[in-house]
Amino acid sequence: MGIEEKQDDSRWFTERADEAGMGLQLRIRGKLHEEQSDFQFLEIYETESFGHLMVIDGFVMLTERDNFVYHEMMTHPVLFTHARPRQVAIIGGGDCGSLREVLRHDTVDSVTQVDIDERVTRLSEQYFPELCESNNDPRARLLFDDGIEWMRQAPDASLDVIIVDSTDPVGPGEGLFNRAFYTQCYRALADGGILIQQSESPLLHLDLIQSMREAMSNGGFDQLHTLQFPQPTYPSGWWSATMARKGDQGLEQFRRGDAAKRRFPTRYYSAEVHAGALAMPPFFCQAMAR
Ligand code: SAM
Repeated sequence: MGIEEKQDDSRWFTERADEAGMGLQLRIRGKLHEEQSDFQFLEIYETESFGHLMVIDGFVMLTERDNFVYHEMMTHPVLFTHARPRQVAIIGGGDCGSLREVLRHDTVDSVTQVDIDERVTRLSEQYFPELCESNNDPRARLLFDDGIEWMRQAPDASLDVIIVDSTDPVGPGEGLFNRAFYTQCYRALADGGILIQQSESPLLHLDLIQSMREAMSNGGFDQLHTLQFPQPTYPSGWWSATMARKGDQGLEQFRRGDAAKRRFPTRYYSAEVHAGALAMPPFFCQAMAR
């Protein structure tokens, strides 16, 4: 198809990744909601083929159609890597999709989710109710506060797993990508504990991934491993999450038998997908070795 001379822009949502010289478009039926919260600009659209779409400060957060890949990969690999995850914290994650997946694990005794913006959760309850279906689980505690400050106050060695399900490193999410934050995460994790954080696109954001990994190491973490998975509505359609462990055990071994015999439904995650996601392509390994 050639360049369209005339395009009806009013029927398309566009996210431009200017630095990459590319963009994503989703055809929309209409805008369902918009508001400026105390922290960010929130929009909800109804798209033609991806269901409801949540956008924060112009960036796609999630769609009904493809969020399962992201939420399953932000949770099940790290929870099946830890020997016995009991105490979990989610920083960000206000749409509650990661929370729902964490609560599927019966080893988990408690999950504290700390999102700075309560409005994200309220909009998710309204427009993505299936993601919020476990919010009343007695093991879940939802706090609306700055995750950076919360982590500073967390008692030493009190957590087994920390999931940083944040916006990009701009706005309120910026301070979730630096050494000071990782130092606090390291302190708050028990020995063997694991942090996982969404780490943007392996194709577009190698420098950011490298500097995140360096900051994690400088924050004290002993082992690092980046996972990859597809995410059609994020820039380049290819996304990553980086795990960092306190302690010597590697991150390539996981409870494969438990993952294979899991007693809950998944749509993307499986033991085989987990093993495949750990394999990183040569260009990525070369860039990380620089
Ligand atoms: N999966 C999404 C992505 O990568 O685009 C992230 C989704 S989740 C909605 C991101 C959440 O991070 C938002 O709800 C935002 O309010 C929250 N957030 C940003 N900065 C934060 C901070 N400093 N403390 C706690 N939550 C924060």
